[in-house]
Amino acid sequence: MKNLIWLCWIAGTMVAQDIPFHYTVRVDDPTAEKWHVTLTMQPIPANQSFYIPAWSPGSYRMCHFGKWVDSLVAFDENGLPLKVLRKNWGEWYIMTPSKTTPSNIAKVSYVAHDIPEDSLETLPTTLNEMAADYFFFNGPTMFGYFKDQKTQKYRVTYRLPKDWNVWCSLDSAGASAFEAVSYDELIDSPVIAGGQRIRRYDFDVNQARYVMIVNSETPVAMDSIITISKPIIEYQTNFFGEAPFSRYMFLFNFFTSGKRFGALEHASSSAYYVTPPINQNQIRPGFYSRVIAHEFFHLWNPKRIYSSRLFPFQYQEPIKIQGMWFIEGVTEYYAKLTLVRAGILPPAYLYHEMRTIAQENFKDNLETLSLRAYEVGVAPVIYTKGALVGLFLDIELRDRSQNQKSLDDVVRYCNTAFAHNKKGYDDRQLTQVVKDATGIDVKSFYKKYIAGTNEMPNKDYFKKAGLLYEVHFRPYLGWYLDIDDDSQLFVSSVSGNSTASSLKLQNGDIIRSINRKIVPGDADSVRSFLSDIDKMKVGETIRMTIERDGKSMDLKGPILPGTVPDVILTENPNASPKEIAIRNGILGIQ
Ligand SMILES: [Zn+2]
Repeated sequence: MKNLIWLCWIAGTMVAQDIPFHYTVRVDDPTAEKWHVTLTMQPIPANQSFYIPAWSPGSYRMCHFGKWVDSLVAFDENGLPLKVLRKNWGEWYIMTPSKTTPSNIAKVSYVAHDIPEDSLETLPTTLNEMAADYFFFNGPTMFGYFKDQKTQKYRVTYRLPKDWNVWCSLDSAGASAFEAVSYDELIDSPVIAGGQRIRRYDFDVNQARYVMIVNSETPVAMDSIITISKPIIEYQTNFFGEAPFSRYMFLFNFFTSGKRFGALEHASSSAYYVTPPINQNQIRPGFYSRVIAHEFFHLWNPKRIYSSRLFPFQYQEPIKIQGMWFIEGVTEYYAKLTLVRAGILPPAYLYHEMRTIAQENFKDNLETLSLRAYEVGVAPVIYTKGALVGLFLDIELRDRSQNQKSLDDVVRYCNTAFAHNKKGYDDRQLTQVVKDATGIDVKSFYKKYIAGTNEMPNKDYFKKAGLLYEVHFRPYLGWYLDIDDDSQLFVSSVSGNSTASSLKLQNGDIIRSINRKIVPGDADSVRSFLSDIDKMKVGETIRMTIERDGKSMDLKGPILPGTVPDVILTENPNASPKEIAIRNGILGIQ
C-alpha cells in the first residue's frame, strides 16, 4: 500500500513538472457573462509582464482583447500578493512587493468579460460570447502569457455549471481538462461549452477522426452538413497526402438572428457563426460547402504553410505581411476548386464564381492591401481578386509548361518544403517560391496583377484555359410607360444615359407609333406591341411619333446599350487541345 502511494506521488509530481502552466477557467453564473481565469505555474521571477494578446491570428488586425480583462491579481509561491501595475490594455507588470527580497510569480488570476459583438470590427469567431446556457471563446480573448513561457506546455481545467460539457480540439487531460504543447496551440483552439443544446457528431474520413460540435437552440440537419463535408475533407487530405492532426474539430454556432456571419481557421479546428440550414434540401448550394472548404484548406495555408514574418507570433505588435492574397485569395480559389474537383458542384459553378469576380474589373494592388490588414482587417477584394489571381496564376503556370506545372505544385511544394520543416516562407519572395516549385518565373505576372494595378486580362487568360469570356451590353430603353384613362400610351419617366433620354423623350409624351406601327388602343395589345420593341438590338434605329402639348413630333435614334454588362463565361467549343488540357487540369479531369 505504501509503495503504491509512493508511486502515485512520483507520477503526480512528474505530470506537474511536465505541465508547468495550469489554467483554470471557472464559470459560476453564466448570466454574469464573465469567466474567472486562474493561472498557476512553476514559479518564475517577478518583475516581468503578463500579457493578453492585442493581435489575433486569423483576423490579422489589432484587437486589444485585454480591454475586456480586469481584476488581475498575482501571488508568489507562498500565496502572498504581488504588486501589479497595469501598463496598457494588454500588459500587467507584476512586481516584487519589497525591493530587498526577490519574489516569484506562482499564480495569476483575472476576470475575462463577454466582448459585445459590435465593439470590434471583426468576426464573432474572433471574439467570445457568454449566454445563459452556453459559451464560445476564441483563445486570445481568454488566455494570457509571459513572454519567455510561450513554448511551455499548458493544461486547462474547466469548472462549469452543472450538466455543462466543454469541447475544443486540444488533447483531453481528463474530465473537462485539456493539454496544449505550447501557448500558441492553447490559444489556437477555440472552445464551446454548454448544456443540452450542445450536440456532438463524430465521423471518420480515410481513418482520421472528425468531430462536429453544434451549438444551436433548435435541432440542425447535421446529416446534410456532414454529407457535404466528407468529400471536401477527402479531396483536400488526398491533395496534400496527409491529415496532419490527431483529430479535427468543427465548432458550429448556429444562430437565427442578431449575429454576424463568421468563420475562423485554426490548426486542428475551425469555428463558425452561421445560420442553420432549415432542412436537408435547403443547404444552400455552395454556401456551407464553400465556407467549410475554405476553412479546412486553411489548416495547411496559413496554419502550417505560413509566412516567416508571422512566426513566432508576437501577440502585442501589428504584423505587416504582403502575402495576404496568397493566404486568403489562393485559399478561396482552392475552396471553389475543391467543390468542383470533389464532384459536389459542376464546373459551371466555378465559371459562375470566377466571371462574377472578373466582371468587377478589380485593379486593386493586393500587396498594398495586404500590408494594411493589421489596421483595417483583410479587405474583401483580397478574397475576390485574390481568388481570380489564384486562377490566373494557375493558368499562367499551366500555359507556360504545356500543362505540366500548376498552382497545385506550388501549394504542395510549400507544404513539403516549408510546413514539413516547420519553417515559414518569405512572403516578400513569393515569386521565388513559385519558381522553386515550378521552375517558372512569374515576376512579370506578379508586378502587373498582384503588386500592380493593371487591368486583369480576363479574356486572354480564360481563353488559355479553353473558356470564352464575353461581355455583352443589353439594349437599354430607359423609360417607364403607362396607359391613361383614354387608353393612350404615355411616358411616365425617363432615365438618364438611356435610349429614351437620347431621343429627348419627356414625361407626359403620348406615343402614337413606334417603328411606323400605330400603338394599339387596348392594354393587352399594347403589352404585346411593346414586347416587340424590347427585342430590338443595340444600334438598331427606333422611330417614334409622339404627341407633346397637342403637337405631333417624329423622333429617331439608335437603341443604346446599358452601362451594366452581362458577362458570360462558357467552355469554348473551338478550344485548342492545349487549352482543353489546361481546362481539364484545373477542373481535375484526367
Ligand atoms: Zn480565410
